[in-house]
Amino acid sequence: MRKDTILKILKLLKKSYTANVKPWLKKSDPYKTLISTILSAQTTDDQVDKITPELFQEYPTPSKLGKAKVAEVERIIKSVGLYKAKARNVIATGRMIVEEFGGQVPQARADMVRLPGVGRKTANVVLIKSFNEPAMPVDTHVFRVANRIGLAIAKTPEKTEEQLVKIIPRKDLGAAHFWLISHGRVICHARSPECERCSVARYCQYFKELK
Ligand code: SF4
Repeated sequence: MRKDTILKILKLLKKSYTANVKPWLKKSDPYKTLISTILSAQTTDDQVDKITPELFQEYPTPSKLGKAKVAEVERIIKSVGLYKAKARNVIATGRMIVEEFGGQVPQARADMVRLPGVGRKTANVVLIKSFNEPAMPVDTHVFRVANRIGLAIAKTPEKTEEQLVKIIPRKDLGAAHFWLISHGRVICHARSPECERCSVARYCQYFKELK
């Protein structure tokens, strides 16, 4: 895809979703972002938002979480998917942050992905939201939307990330992640995308192939 076309698509997405992005990009505490993102796998953000106030009130630091009882954390996070495995992971993550990183969430992606329950996508979310670093977490929405439009032509999230990082200006990378997610949630649904009211339809490869 031509560079000027990519920039036009990004501009249109930015126009549609700037308001949605502002709260997401508000700088957040690395510990809370990390734990919330671990908990968000295979569950909705709303479900996570319901349980995190109690979790962080009880365990406001990695040190406190690292000393928590599994049964107590399970009780608090029970409404999120895979809560048993996640309870063990967040406790072990709290402990490892204290033992190996002096009580602070590490800022290097390579260190973050060593923490239990933390994959590349979670690490990228923390980089964007808490450390103001350019990164492109590829979740199911980003993967689908980027590959439908033709911003990426890839079969895996890793390859999609690699391609998006190359073509999106660094200054826009974090915001572009949220524009793509928003577009996936609002218009470009997995089933039945609403192409007829899509602002980037004229540039979209998927849409061209429908005709
Ligand atoms: S035209 Fe359709 S498939 Fe393409 S981005 Fe828009 S909603 Fe998605």
